[in-house]
Amino acid sequence: MPDHIAREIFKIPLIHIGCKDRIAWHYSANGKYSVKSGYRVALSLSAQTLNCPGQSGSPSPLWKWIWNLEVPPKVRVFMWKTAHGRLPVRAALHRRSTDTTPYCQRCGTTIETVEHTLRDCPWSQFFWRASPLRLDNLLHTTTASIADMLMVISKMNNNDGECLFAMLLWALWRARNVLIFQGKEMSHMQCFDIALRCLNDFQSNKLRGRKQPAMPQQMDWTPPPEGHFKINTDASVMKNEGTGLGAVLRDHAGNILHTRSEHLTVDYSVEIAEALACRKGLLLARDLHLDHIQLETDCMKVVQAHNSHQSDLSYFGTIINDIRSIGNSFSSFSVIFTRRTANTIAHNLAKFAFSNSCNGFYSGSLPPELDFLYFAEDFSSES
Ligand SMILES: [Zn+2]
Repeated sequence: MPDHIAREIFKIPLIHIGCKDRIAWHYSANGKYSVKSGYRVALSLSAQTLNCPGQSGSPSPLWKWIWNLEVPPKVRVFMWKTAHGRLPVRAALHRRSTDTTPYCQRCGTTIETVEHTLRDCPWSQFFWRASPLRLDNLLHTTTASIADMLMVISKMNNNDGECLFAMLLWALWRARNVLIFQGKEMSHMQCFDIALRCLNDFQSNKLRGRKQPAMPQQMDWTPPPEGHFKINTDASVMKNEGTGLGAVLRDHAGNILHTRSEHLTVDYSVEIAEALACRKGLLLARDLHLDHIQLETDCMKVVQAHNSHQSDLSYFGTIINDIRSIGNSFSSFSVIFTRRTANTIAHNLAKFAFSNSCNGFYSGSLPPELDFLYFAEDFSSES
């Protein structure tokens, strides 16, 4: 087996809790397929096939523009299909099967191409003239392809106008489908209304998401309530040298009950390494039969993934599932984000994993080399 493949296999983190094999999409962070990631892969494959070194997988400006539009994902997908001539207009369907008429449902006199239905049909011309956007110049350039027209729009330097344009184009296509498949004629005003409402809903939901209060961040290490235990974990990754995991377990009085410092020969990604450190810390608490556990990490991604209920098929997501399962075995369990300044001991334990004198496990104390850290996270008890 070639070395590089063996290394990749070796990099797969082993899971702790058993789970069934499943198929995951390698090219997205969460292991799930999306049109966006699929398109990127297709683009990079076609660039490789065409052997054009300058554009190895780098998306075109039009592609970037479409996927950066602040419009609902379904509208971005529609825009992408439009730009690539993938809309199932009658001219395209007729090419595949002569059973379908190639003529436009509205005017009945012209072959329905993407350009015709979205721009040149008299109904569409009227739609654009009545729309809140001023696109008169574009409407006259009927020889240009729709992709060329999108290129012009993409250079408007007017984010709101570009988003509105995408919504209107989508509403126009939607009205065409309602007419063909439901036999209902929508008015121009109804189309504008749907486009604007859909855009407003999307953008205000997005804004609400942004305005969510930031997670509280603490500067100093704080002890857990009495009867509870806190584990702080951290990881350190060095290219070609492996991964260091650090964990420290303390009680409500701040007493260090256990520390752990462990070196793994594989250099994992930072997120996976942080998740492995968390799992390592949890297993430590479970092996010691402790209960009421708070897990603290300075990796926001681990906290968000643990608290989110979205499934994640990636290696990272699998370790998060492990953390959830182990966490469920405690009467109470939480994963908390902390600043690095409140995670010094775990951080140093992770670094210490690379030193020769690290032998992996220190019960009830810090390794002698890290004695100086005893007071690194001196907390002020609340009075
Ligand atoms: Zn027409």
